[in-house]
Amino acid sequence: MQNELEKLARKTNETEFYINIPKGYKPGKTKFIVVTGSVISGVGKGTFTSCLGALLALRHGFRVSPVKFDGYLNYDAGTLNPYRHGEVFVLDDGTECDLDLGTYEKKKKKNLSKDNYLTAGKIFKNIIDKERKGKYLGRDVQFIPHVTGEIKGFLRNLALKSRADIVLVEVGGTVGDIENSYFLEAMRELAYEEGKKNVCFINVVYILEPESLGEQKSKAAQLGLRTLMGLGIQPDIVVCRSENPINENIKEKISIHSNIPVSRVIDARNADNIHEIPVILKDIGVDRIVLDVLDLKARRENTEFRKWERLVERIRKSRKEIAIGITGKYTTVHDSYISILKALEHTAPYLLAKAKISWIETPDIKSPEDAEKSLHGLDGIIVPGGFGSRGSEGKILCIKYARENNMPFLGLCFGFQMAVLEFARNVCGLKDANSTEIEPKTKEPVICILPEQEEIEGLGGTMRLGGLDLVVRENTLAHRLYGKTKIRERFRHRWNVNTKYIDLLEKNGLVFSGYAPEKRIMQILEIPGHKFFLATQFHPEFTSKPLNPSPVFRGFLEACLK
Ligand code: GLN
Repeated sequence: MQNELEKLARKTNETEFYINIPKGYKPGKTKFIVVTGSVISGVGKGTFTSCLGALLALRHGFRVSPVKFDGYLNYDAGTLNPYRHGEVFVLDDGTECDLDLGTYEKKKKKNLSKDNYLTAGKIFKNIIDKERKGKYLGRDVQFIPHVTGEIKGFLRNLALKSRADIVLVEVGGTVGDIENSYFLEAMRELAYEEGKKNVCFINVVYILEPESLGEQKSKAAQLGLRTLMGLGIQPDIVVCRSENPINENIKEKISIHSNIPVSRVIDARNADNIHEIPVILKDIGVDRIVLDVLDLKARRENTEFRKWERLVERIRKSRKEIAIGITGKYTTVHDSYISILKALEHTAPYLLAKAKISWIETPDIKSPEDAEKSLHGLDGIIVPGGFGSRGSEGKILCIKYARENNMPFLGLCFGFQMAVLEFARNVCGLKDANSTEIEPKTKEPVICILPEQEEIEGLGGTMRLGGLDLVVRENTLAHRLYGKTKIRERFRHRWNVNTKYIDLLEKNGLVFSGYAPEKRIMQILEIPGHKFFLATQFHPEFTSKPLNPSPVFRGFLEACLK
């Protein structure tokens, strides 16, 4: 098949095929794992996929490159509302993407890029751009072979560029959705073209257990599997998600209906802690099954996995509770703060502690008394990122309380800007200090739009985005935390501290301990003498990883424990 494939790829313009093979690509060099979901979404397909990737990379030393396909027509996640869709994650190259990419990246040493994220919008935009340039040479552009060819080309390009041993594909949504139907068709073609041993299909199903029946039911899973097989995809492994352990007879039914041995029907019940999942998957032997399907040999036992297991042991031993308040307006959808929650969750065990979160509805905080009532008894407070004016006055009141009561405070992005306003108003005496995002005609625009942002038209991919270098000032808390003067962190903002006010703020005791190397853009602030009062214009939660937690989160939690 491989030689045939290469031959056909060369003759693409004369045949019905549109086999998109990048130069230098060798079929079979990279293996593919494709994870799909049936029955319902939101049952942990992304978590399973990232944990499997971690297991293969950390335990066996494979170079695993993940990719998420989202079926929506947005080009990327930049314009999505986190209240509806969960957090917008930002990659080092500035790609605004689904939070699942954050889940993957946390388990990897290397950063991900735009090549790891694909939406329907991106596929169609690329195709139409190509068509306008005459790249299809007189042919009518069709779903098959052109759209599917574009998708296969994207995956092969990722394989080639990342030099991955395994490309791990997660297909968003569930089998049977119109949104991902042509993507699944592309996966069927991929398996055919690459050869059976080079593609492993894993389908994640949900086993229902209606309370009124008190027993597990596999019918919905069976129908999902049937739909998948109807699309010409034979799963190699079926992962069952459920509230309770899966009964043997359920596994047998799944086996009968999907042509796979019972040993490849995996019981993936709820874990106490997400970090345990790679270890659980190892105990079940999922990695061995996958390697078997793909005809791969484990290369070496990797020590990285020991580190992961030690983290899990530490999590089990962590007893001390740290009470953290998080303010914000998306507090009903916790997924909109997922990176912060994860950063707390994986950093606290290094102090043998766990974070207990209280959500603070800032629109309800209208007076210093309200702030005191909400914050009293907490060990520390985080004011995270945000957009628009709602709740901003309540956030400022909370920051004032933390500053005056020596309560550890961590401000992130919008939280950084609110801390500047609080200080300007209550310490520097600028009663009208505001951000032009909140009050466009304010007399004291202490937070103003970045000069380079003024002329930008259109939303989506236009903020100051992605990984940027910054300088950390010596003899500051930030320097003690990072232990160096040059760092790189991730940004997603349009507003910043107005340069006209920097001197005044500093004269009154605010220290800007981190800034952009060439421009006068302030990026870290702190107040000396306070237990912990630090805010960042960037998002340290994006780069914090279980095996390498962010110094900012670690420092904050240490202060909370004192
Ligand atoms: N709305 C603010 C800005 O655009 C903060 C952004 C954020 O918190 N991510 O600058």
